[in-house]
Amino acid sequence: MFDEMWGAIEHLGRDDRTRGYLRDAWSPADLELRLWFEQEAARRGLGTVQDRNGNLWAWWGDPSARPGVVTGSHLDSVRQGGAFDGPLGVVSAFAALDLLRARDFRPARPLGIACFTDEEGARFGVPCIGSRLLTGVLDPDRARSLTDDEGDSLAEVLRRAGRDPRELGRDEETLRHIGVFVELHVEQGRDLIHRDAPVGVASAIWPHGRWRFDFHGQANHAGTTRLADRDDPMLPFARTVLHARQAAERDGGVVATFGRTRVSPNNANAVPGLVSAWLDARGGDEDAVRALVAEVTEFSGAEVTVESWTPLVDFDTALRERIAAVAGDAPVLATGAGHDAGILASAGVPSAMVFVRNPTGISHSPEEHAERADCHAGVAALAAVLEDLCGN
Ligand SMILES: [Zn+2]
Repeated sequence: MFDEMWGAIEHLGRDDRTRGYLRDAWSPADLELRLWFEQEAARRGLGTVQDRNGNLWAWWGDPSARPGVVTGSHLDSVRQGGAFDGPLGVVSAFAALDLLRARDFRPARPLGIACFTDEEGARFGVPCIGSRLLTGVLDPDRARSLTDDEGDSLAEVLRRAGRDPRELGRDEETLRHIGVFVELHVEQGRDLIHRDAPVGVASAIWPHGRWRFDFHGQANHAGTTRLADRDDPMLPFARTVLHARQAAERDGGVVATFGRTRVSPNNANAVPGLVSAWLDARGGDEDAVRALVAEVTEFSGAEVTVESWTPLVDFDTALRERIAAVAGDAPVLATGAGHDAGILASAGVPSAMVFVRNPTGISHSPEEHAERADCHAGVAALAAVLEDLCGN
């Protein structure tokens, strides 16, 4: 079941030159994946509901009668990302449901499979757009006006996909359906290798955020403009990258990354007029993360906009201990990566995460991997967790 589903989507959005994935939200590859989700649900006799924010929900049972147990993840990717971040959780959700049905299990509570929209934020810069809109932490007006690299707004992109952008916003009805959410995800570190365990459970997600730095200058000819006459924003940007790295090294408990830039006009023979760059900063201690960002902001001289901020997420202790026990005494570990489960947990939805070992620890790269045997172990653990949570 798992292998067949994996084989059916493996090629979607893959760059054959790099083997990396390009699954931007609402791109043709993403739309195909969403269709695949609906087809897999239909194969199991489940209808798919799209909520106001474009998240997909396939329900076994009626969640309006009683809030359900939901599992799932996302199907979009970072640019040139790996195959596992997101899809592993969705494919495992369907495979776990198949395992439960093969055992003739009848859930006492509705069981839902979810696919959250635009988790990575690759296209519009803000991560977890689907779950942030659902829970109301992202302002719908702001979401509608976010633009991609082509200058298209999210509102326009949604309209083109046949959706009404006016519907965006906190969705009480959908939230009422979620009694508990369990997200299975490929591990994005090397903890489980050191613990020699195929499956683990999340304890917490580090506080993390993204800030856009706009360095303004004057676009001009790269050959005829004398150095003394230039106002080149690439220079303060370059100094700021180095400064962020040094500040993180000095702190020791924080990581800081400039991984995305937008240069205008982006010509090899022009001094740029504007450099926009995104700082991603995370750490175990919220004050330390904020202090680092404040320092880098002041140093940069740039115009800085907070694009997202997620405080420390401490997953429900009783729930995570219960899940760890059911998943065969799985180890419990903290992560520096953000997830929809973290957004839901912050909004008061009891949430948990199951991690599947990644033999290299590499993620957000074509090298991202999970051994097939570990994927199967993840499905078995997830099925046991769902059986436990749905059984009463
Ligand atoms: Zn993910």
